[in-house]
Amino acid sequence: MDAKHLSVAERLLDWYDRHHRSLPWRSPPGTPPPDPYRVWLSEVMLQQTQVASVRPYFEAWTARWPSFAALAAADDADVMAAWAGLGYYARARNLLACARAVAALGALPDSEAGLRALPGIGDYTAAAIAAIAFGRRAVVVDANVERVVSRLFAIAEPLPAARAAIRAATDTITPDDRAGDFAQAMMDLGSTVCTVRNPRCLLCSLRDDCVAFQTAAPEAFPVKAAKKAKPQRHGTLFWAERDGRVLLVRRPDKGLLGGMRALPTGPWSDSDPGTEGAPFSADWRAIGLVRHGFTHFDLACTVMVADAGDDVAQGEWWPVAKIADAGLPTLFARAIAVVEGMR
Ligand code: SF4
Repeated sequence: MDAKHLSVAERLLDWYDRHHRSLPWRSPPGTPPPDPYRVWLSEVMLQQTQVASVRPYFEAWTARWPSFAALAAADDADVMAAWAGLGYYARARNLLACARAVAALGALPDSEAGLRALPGIGDYTAAAIAAIAFGRRAVVVDANVERVVSRLFAIAEPLPAARAAIRAATDTITPDDRAGDFAQAMMDLGSTVCTVRNPRCLLCSLRDDCVAFQTAAPEAFPVKAAKKAKPQRHGTLFWAERDGRVLLVRRPDKGLLGGMRALPTGPWSDSDPGTEGAPFSADWRAIGLVRHGFTHFDLACTVMVADAGDDVAQGEWWPVAKIADAGLPTLFARAIAVVEGMR
């Protein structure tokens, strides 16, 4: 067919056949779809985490737990520790709950509705798995697709209100066949060509279809609503040491960083809580500050240190020399860097 009569999907799939990214959870175009377990795992890991960060986690994870059955049988603490560094620990808890639900069902459901009924699978993830693992036509809209489509159609409404219009526009260009390749092609185009800044429009196979390109303002899309500042909260992280070991605790299952091994902390407050919530009375000394951004607030924590006496018994006394193996979340890893900087 003459190139100018090709649809957006045909142009994009043609580009994808030649320029697709090679990723460990994907099958190249024209080959059978990948194992649904690997598609599901990659999609959960990629929720709010970049491809480059996910790749080593994915490879280590699939070597250790290669199937739903293997993951379903894993120890909760091992899974939480293996997740450390990917952030958003509710995802790890849901991941395990989902693996156990799938193991009980016998297989991952192949429809969007069946997938959405599982823990941790929302609209986007259900659509992506249905399309990529099972070849079903599904409208898949992640942040990359949101950007490409808002530019293609020059959608002027600001996010997040524009999501309905972006989804409807994506529906109009999603093909019946190769829906999985189409979704992955859109993601690839968004991450390699239609980038947030300096999109490479002159190399883009959708240039002739793109209203934002024709109006010379692609970077103006997607239009964003003015951002509200996140609230600032404060806390204290306690480093208690004796005989080359540091006191660690297991955080309660519910709440921030739930179920994770951690340094003892005080409450998260609107002002510096000082030594409130310290694991024991001692001459606590502040040695630095660590900051971490969570979804709904920014946290600034004072790091305090003290020597612990023999009478302090609660928690787990972990060898300081092996602290990197404790699977501590990023917030605590930053506190450790502060402690190590003092030595
Ligand atoms: Fe994005 Fe430019 Fe391609 Fe439009 S022409 S889809 S703005 S890269």
